[in-house]
Amino acid sequence: ALALGLSACGGGGAGSTAPGESATSAAPADVTVGVAMPTQTSQRWIDDGNNVKAGLEKLGYKVDLQYANDDIPTQVSQLTTMINNGDKVLIVASIDGTALSSQLADAAAAGIKVISYDRLIRDTENVDFYVSFDNFKVGVQQGNSLLTGLGLLNADGSPNPSAPAGPLNVELFAGSLDDNNATFFYKGAMSVLQPYIDKGTIVIPSKQTDISQIATQQWKTDVAQKRMETLLTSSDANITLNGVLSPADIVSRGIITALTNAGYGSGGKAFPIVTGQDADIDNVKLINDGKQYSTIFKDTRKLADEAIKVTGDYLSGKEPEANNTTDYNNGKKVVPSYLLESTVVTKDNVKSVLVDSGYYTQAQVDKGQ
Ligand code: BGC
Repeated sequence: ALALGLSACGGGGAGSTAPGESATSAAPADVTVGVAMPTQTSQRWIDDGNNVKAGLEKLGYKVDLQYANDDIPTQVSQLTTMINNGDKVLIVASIDGTALSSQLADAAAAGIKVISYDRLIRDTENVDFYVSFDNFKVGVQQGNSLLTGLGLLNADGSPNPSAPAGPLNVELFAGSLDDNNATFFYKGAMSVLQPYIDKGTIVIPSKQTDISQIATQQWKTDVAQKRMETLLTSSDANITLNGVLSPADIVSRGIITALTNAGYGSGGKAFPIVTGQDADIDNVKLINDGKQYSTIFKDTRKLADEAIKVTGDYLSGKEPEANNTTDYNNGKKVVPSYLLESTVVTKDNVKSVLVDSGYYTQAQVDKGQ
């Protein structure tokens, strides 16, 4: 079906691709890969887009890279254009993972392969492969780093014998509910936090623990800031917060602004332990300044490389290699996946993880930009 679909899309010229023959006969310069990214408000997606584009262009392919400003109709129309233009492979980091079914049905009918990038596209058969990180494990890392920052665990993850007895006040934030990852991060984090909540060592002053109460629509910084402000002036009034579980750096920035405005970090009022994800450069600065405790580094260069490899496989008629064929059921099927590992970053290992690997220069880290 792949070869037929690809030949139907042209590229190699009429009759140049015999049935059963793979797409290799289409010269790379005749092949366009569509890359749909969600937003430019977080550094990571800018890097993802640039890395995927550069890598594919190095192999000779044309690339149509689009950002959708976190707007679902914009992303839908970008995909429609890519399909109508005869792009041969689509690499999609969806905004709403459930909103793309009809476009992807068109893609499948045209023999276009679809790679779900970082975020799982849901409720459709027409997604061929998923490249991401181990998202449950990212959540576990966030939960464990919160526990370490609170002094409940040692850095190696073992229980701290001189841990504070508590109760420690912690508020919980989750990501955008239309992003499949948000649930994975939250479940991972709660898998390690729940026992401490059950024991009463950790208390949630607002009592908001259901993901629908703590979600951050479209992962927006200002939405998180407002919720944190509301928490600080309502249920949390007169309570000193010890920690905040934040699912991503873009969310942490809003939380940290609200905490700073409420006087945390000055006048002897210690900054709560705030987690994050992505190692956005702004947040690396916040970590060095002692306002954010941790982030989870996901090397977007490796994710881009994986997406490029899978694209190359499809365009040469090969099945890409999965390392997980069980965990990511999108509601219609289990999508074969390739999952990468992530790393907890705190002040102590910014240099060894982010600078020594060449992800940032020391000058970028120092300036925070
Ligand atoms: C990604 C995170 C990112 C978040 C907000 C998630 O799907 O996995 O890396 O922080 O979206 O952009």
